[in-house]
Amino acid sequence: MAEILVIEEAVTFAAGDGTHPVTRELCHAADDIARRTGHEWASLEVALPEALLRDPAAFGEAIAEASRDSWLVMMGSTSLGRDVMARAAGLLQVPLAQDCTAYSVTDGSPTFTRPLYGGKVLVDVQLKSRPMLATFRPRALPAFDGVARVLKHVACRSPTSPVVQVDVCAARVGRTLGVTEADVVVSGGRGMVGPDNWHILEELVSVLGPRATLACSRPVSDEGWRPRAEHVGQTGQAIAPDVYIACGISGAIQHVAGITGSKCIIAINRDADAPIFKVADYGIVGDLFEVVPALTQAIRAFGDS
Ligand SMILES: Cc1cc2nc3c(=O)[nH]c(=O)nc-3n(C[C@H](O)[C@H](O)[C@H](O)COP(=O)(O)OP(=O)(O)OC[C@H]3O[C@@H](n4cnc5c(N)ncnc54)[C@H](O)[C@@H]3O)c2cc1C
Repeated sequence: MAEILVIEEAVTFAAGDGTHPVTRELCHAADDIARRTGHEWASLEVALPEALLRDPAAFGEAIAEASRDSWLVMMGSTSLGRDVMARAAGLLQVPLAQDCTAYSVTDGSPTFTRPLYGGKVLVDVQLKSRPMLATFRPRALPAFDGVARVLKHVACRSPTSPVVQVDVCAARVGRTLGVTEADVVVSGGRGMVGPDNWHILEELVSVLGPRATLACSRPVSDEGWRPRAEHVGQTGQAIAPDVYIACGISGAIQHVAGITGSKCIIAINRDADAPIFKVADYGIVGDLFEVVPALTQAIRAFGDS
């Protein structure tokens, strides 16, 4: 498990289920603290049975289990987050910096700032025990706009209660591997149809290993489907990975201008005449919604063999 953990909180929006926005703010802090202290960070999704998902006792126990070997664990200071982290702190027998609004890093260690007496006093808190536990108020920190990737899946089981069962802990790491740093770049274009389909590319990235990351064409970031930092091309990032996998990207000259440094270009497009095939080393003519999952499965099977 990662040294710095951000605990995700699932929420239901009008548009469907998602992650509480404070998660991205915590990812910003995790990424910043990781860079300044040399730790690895991950965003942790605790998958509990539906009935226990909002049960603070079960959630707190799951966090305590998952974070025993961590250095710093953070969650949003939401009503659930405050409750859950207090329980985790009790189980781990460590103090908790609750309801923080800021942090600083000095001599490789974070200091947490908490308002007291209705905000009249600001207190700086340093935690001596490990793991350090902290909750942060939503909207206190900027949001992280990097890419989070699934690094590993860990099955945990609660030793103390037969009722609580943590099925899967999926660690998504954002070791801030930007598009220009990655060895393998999986890129999606308008052929992805919308922002909700990106999980198939994320799964492909996850099986390709920690040196792989996501990118996109400009219309995708213009539409807000993906962060602007992922857009490659003439007006975006110019990249030179070992492998560039273009999924549902036509291959307009402005896009190709940003990927010509790639050592190997693989294109997946259902239009055999798409210009991307002119610059591709390998081309797959087909529906990306069939080809990408099949590719992911094949790579996973290869890795397991
Ligand atoms: C000044 C200027 C600067 C620009 N700079 C950039 C830039 O930096 N980067 C950039 O990317 N663009 C840039 N553009 C935009 C560029 O011209 C193209 O419009 C853009 O690259 C097209 O993006 P796309 O390939 O995702 O979408 P489209 O051109 O719409 O292509 C979508 C592709 O997906 C395929 N597809 C659809 N469904 C499926 C499916 N199910 N399975 C497989 N394939 C499918 C289609 O066959 C099609 O080829 C710039 C434009 C201008 C004018």
